[in-house]
Amino acid sequence: MTTAFITHTDCLKHVTPDGHPEQVARLQAVLKRFEAPEFDALDRHEAPLAEKSHILRVHPEAYYDKVEAAEPATGWTQLDADTHMSNGSFRAGLLAAGANIEAVDLVASGQADNAFCAIRPPGHHAETSTSMGFCLFGSVVVGAKHALEEYGYDRVAIVDFDVHHGNGTQDLVWNDDRIFFASTHQMPLYPGSGAAHETGASGNVMNIPLQANADGAALQAAFNNSILPALDHFKPDMIFISAGFDAHYADPLANLNFTEDDFVWATHALAKAAKRLCGGRLVSTLEGGYDLEALAASTAAHVKILMEYSA
Ligand SMILES: [Zn+2]
Repeated sequence: MTTAFITHTDCLKHVTPDGHPEQVARLQAVLKRFEAPEFDALDRHEAPLAEKSHILRVHPEAYYDKVEAAEPATGWTQLDADTHMSNGSFRAGLLAAGANIEAVDLVASGQADNAFCAIRPPGHHAETSTSMGFCLFGSVVVGAKHALEEYGYDRVAIVDFDVHHGNGTQDLVWNDDRIFFASTHQMPLYPGSGAAHETGASGNVMNIPLQANADGAALQAAFNNSILPALDHFKPDMIFISAGFDAHYADPLANLNFTEDDFVWATHALAKAAKRLCGGRLVSTLEGGYDLEALAASTAAHVKILMEYSA
């Protein structure tokens, strides 16, 4: 079978001000990398727009309406210290969430073994009623709730190896014992949350903060000692990855020292867990990653492993 690759060129129409790290060029660099012949076997899909009802599973209508109304005709609206909207940003946000809907549909129906969503804006900092950290909607949680509501799954898991804590995902799943959320991240670092004692209403959240300059050994320890055993215990019916690549040593926004090989290792570990626990069902979504070369190379390395598991 296949690895699905879901994207939309209108995710490039979400434009941030000059010098902003979450820039159009990020997704351009990723999409350019996936033009290589080694990715010919991908099953490519254009992301659909998430329906309003999909978003309202995780955000209140007042927040959805606020984001929609904030979009400017020209120039920028600044929603918070870090998050800007241009004309086209609202649509890009719906496409990012819609990519996750499509990925879940393809994988849950057996049309694809696993899927990668190459989208922006990212989503894991968006809280219930608050944009944050370049994020408008909690796209991965939109996908997770879709899997639970539409496919009769009892439990799903989200693993986030972006260098920043997935505070938004944590906020959105805190009271939902059907969703297990695990995050590795540098601490202290933006957004400041993600201490080990933040464990969710039912112990469904696991935070593993890493010290500055930690390398792949720390990632492997976090996975082997904590995250992988927790996944085995939780027995998810589908695994989601919030795949940020800003823990790469070249990234300008943080200070972890992961390499492409470390992302490969983590992808193997999660794909193996998916094979072991849930028929290989795995949906991965791009979050951060701000060094364009490292981002493109790490994303490519990540997806190549997904393709190995769908061969
Ligand atoms: Zn990040």
